[in-house]
Amino acid sequence: MSIPNKLVNHYPWLPSLKIYYSDLASKEPIKFITEVFAKGESEEIKERLLKLFNAAFENLEEITEYKVDHLNVYVYLLLKIFLYALNNKIITNRIANLYSKVAYNELERENNDSNLYDICLDLGLKIKYYDPPLNYGTSVIKDQRQKLESNFTIHFIDYLRLASNLRDEIRKLAHNSLSKGYVFIQNKRLIRLLQEYVRNKIIIKETDDKVFLKAFIKEVLEIKDFKDLYDKILEEWALRKEEIDFSFKLDFSNKGGLLALYPPCVTEILKNAQEGQNLAHHERLFITWFLLALEYPVEDVVNIFSPMPDFNKEIATYQVKFAKKKAYVPYQCSTIKSLNFCMAEKYKDEICLEGYGAKDPKDRKKMKHPLSYVRLKQYRAAKEIEYFKNRPDKKTKEKEELKPDTKNE
Ligand code: SF4
Repeated sequence: MSIPNKLVNHYPWLPSLKIYYSDLASKEPIKFITEVFAKGESEEIKERLLKLFNAAFENLEEITEYKVDHLNVYVYLLLKIFLYALNNKIITNRIANLYSKVAYNELERENNDSNLYDICLDLGLKIKYYDPPLNYGTSVIKDQRQKLESNFTIHFIDYLRLASNLRDEIRKLAHNSLSKGYVFIQNKRLIRLLQEYVRNKIIIKETDDKVFLKAFIKEVLEIKDFKDLYDKILEEWALRKEEIDFSFKLDFSNKGGLLALYPPCVTEILKNAQEGQNLAHHERLFITWFLLALEYPVEDVVNIFSPMPDFNKEIATYQVKFAKKKAYVPYQCSTIKSLNFCMAEKYKDEICLEGYGAKDPKDRKKMKHPLSYVRLKQYRAAKEIEYFKNRPDKKTKEKEELKPDTKNE
């Protein structure tokens, strides 16, 4: 199926980009960059890119005077190249959040079912459209009955795939109506799923091939226009970076230290926060309550959130202080599992997966609370220190063994 070219210009993250702009998509990045900057419209492209980066650094959720034309395609492709070259997870996450939010706003503003349907088909989603909309139930909120209707249904596999990172309760499959494998979905929620698709599309996995990256950066920086823009972006970032006062530094490469005491669910949240990824509401609550329960100062807890795209120091401080006053107890494992952010499997954590307290698996206790995990790890560490302190060193032990036994003389 082919979709209108206009849609690809408007939403360049669509797979059809490769069809309409096959000449661009197949070009070597260096050749592509050189050609783009040689274009008459290059100043406009540069301006749009810089605007995007600045808006992301400022945590904005919209771009003023967002233009929808063919230059959008160049901006999108260059954006991906810049993110790769910058190789900075916080910047990438900020851009991904902003760019996907812009896509959400555009789709919502358009309010065009036909475009929405075409976009879903282009993404290869199994989707059905109904006109007039299907009635699939009634919702009752505070005695107010409301008929539930939707124009779209989406296959549950596609639904799960798109919603997998959205952990809010309303998006759980169990909380949505299904018929013959298709989930009833209202336009706004469908657009939210597309936003998540766009966010993931922008996020570039950190490359392991640092040698290649270095060589690539060296090569692209030889293109003057690229270098000027690259330097300008880094300059702007250096100014903003000071606002990200991440004094609560965590070293994820070091298996020892503070992180070794934390269960996988906590490590994962801290890692994502440090990389500037948006945390789900429950993850934010949990990490706040967890760190406060371990008596972390309010300021350190607030700083955990500072690299995140929607960070506002004043609001975060107020919320953390409020949580401290209320002394909320962090979620237990069963709740975390139901909220879908238990990371025992991902981290293959022995304590979380197999329990503790006995050699025989059937006698082991199950891990029930992340704070118990910390206590257990602290207890084990203390035991280990004690053992090494009391253990006679090897030489003393050897000498002891060589001493003649005088007891029976
Ligand atoms: S088992 Fe509990 S402590 Fe371990 S990762 Fe899951 S929720 Fe966290």
